[in-house]
This record gives sequence, structure tokens and C-alpha cells, in this order.
Amino acid sequence: MACTVFTIANQKGGVGKTTTAVNLAAALAEQKIHTLVVDLDPQANATSALGIEKTEGKSLYGPLRGEGSAFEMLTPTAWPHLALIPSEVDLAAIEIELAQQPNYLMRLRSVLDPLRNSGGYRAIIIDCPPALGMLSMNSLAAADHLLIALQCEYMALEGLGQILKVVDRLKTAGINPTLDVGGIVMTMFDSRTNLSRQVVEEVRQHLSSKLFETVIPRTVRLSEAPSFGKPILSYDPHGPGATAYRALGKEIAARFKLTENGA
Ligand code: ADP
Ligand code: MG
Repeated sequence: MACTVFTIANQKGGVGKTTTAVNLAAALAEQKIHTLVVDLDPQANATSALGIEKTEGKSLYGPLRGEGSAFEMLTPTAWPHLALIPSEVDLAAIEIELAQQPNYLMRLRSVLDPLRNSGGYRAIIIDCPPALGMLSMNSLAAADHLLIALQCEYMALEGLGQILKVVDRLKTAGINPTLDVGGIVMTMFDSRTNLSRQVVEEVRQHLSSKLFETVIPRTVRLSEAPSFGKPILSYDPHGPGATAYRALGKEIAARFKLTENGA
């Protein structure tokens, strides 16, 4: 089974990266697409949002330093076809440690390669910390597609240039020549405000080919679900949040030809 690696990276925090990583993964899994979430944020929000407790020694910290393999970190979730490599606070130390290693930008790619080639997963979704540091750069070096979460707010496009520049640099430097901006997902859309609509319109004008049709609404349920350790598809399966992430999952499965049994 071919495996497609997505990273959800950008330097802004609070824009819906983790919410999208977790719920998109759950939506793909619901379509029986074998999906692995890799939590690369030392804050471990994706880990707890999937109902997994942070455990010392259970993260990519060891493997990224050459100790142990990513396989040892695989953790099943309560949902079929959905697995996790958790994070823990120690992972933060890797930002400095990696910088002293040879090929420091390629560490995550080599750590994930055996998993990618294992045939066990059709999609890997990496959730990044809110900074373009060593961890996020490694995820961009390891990924096939960058997914960008943009919050429907004033100045949403600010900072987008920075990440797009990083993508170009990684490509031209030969670090990840085939890295592609897979798409932009607008998050926290508030249908009661004109601002939300204006922001989506503005992004559509500039980046229409990249923008996913599905827009994620702002809902209280989406913000509550992580504290119950459940994706929205399980916490509020028929609400607008679940409906939106399901639609995004369908769109992404179609755009990147992710199918149940691979190929
Ligand atoms: P990031 O990973 O980019 O820092 P999060 O996904 O953690 O962002 O989202 C930031 C905060 O906003 C979290 O408290 C999250 O629960 C909340 N949130 C994210 N998306 C939505 C949404 N569509 N509706 C309501 N709250 C949301
Ligand atoms: Mg996050």
C-alpha cells in the first residue's frame, strides 16, 4: 500500500492545526483509510485529543536521536484504522540536539521511512508545533504535501508568505524537491460575521487552486472534544464540526487519491 505523508505546519499557533490533524485523520480512518497521526508538538495536544496519555519515552524523541525505532512508538487508538505516534514534553529538547547532528533536516524522514514502506498505513498526518523550528522543518523535509490551516480572521494571510518561502527553499536546495502545497483549509469560520466571509473570499482570490472547498465552522463542540479525548466524529458525530471534517476527508481522499486498499 502506497503511503502519502501530510504535514500540517505553520508558525502561527491557535489556528486549528491540531484540530485539523486529529479530525481529518479520524475522517480518513472512518473511510477505512489506514491513517497514522504523528504528534510532533512537544505540547502533545494531538496525543491527548486522541485520548492517549503522555508517557515518558513514548514519542519520536528517542528515534530522532538514533535510539530505537518509530515502530516501537506506535500506539493504537480507540478507533479502527487510526494509530498514533504520541508526543511528550521531552521532544522539545530535540530542537537543539538535532542541530548538532549531520543531515539534521532529514532525521524525521529517515525515522518515518520504514513506517511509510511498511504497508501498514495509507496516510500519515504530522501535527507540528507553532513555529518553523527544527521539528517543523523536519516534517517539511519528510512530507509529500503541506496542508495549511488558516484561521478566518483579520490578517489571515499574514505569515503565509513565510511558510511558502520555506517550502520553495527546501525544494530548490534539493532537501525535498517534490514537496507540494497540498491545500489550504480555512478554519473557525463564523457564519454570523462578514469578516469570516471576506477572509475566505480574499484567500479564494489569491489561492483559489489550493483552497479546499470545505470550510471548517467555529463550533463549541469542536473546542470541547479534545478534553474528552475524542475526535469530533465520535464526540458529536452528527454536528456541523463532524460534517465539515468528514467533507474535508472526502475532498482530501479524492484530491490525493487515497483509497481504502491503497495503490
Ligand atoms: P493549533 O494546533 O494551530 O495551535 P488548535 O487546533 O489547537 O490550533 O486550535 C486552537 C484552539 O481553538 C483550541 O482550543 C481548539 O479547540 C480551538 N478550535 C480549533 N478549531 C476550532 C473550531 N473550528 N471551532 C471552535 N474551536 C476551535
Ligand atoms: Mg497544535
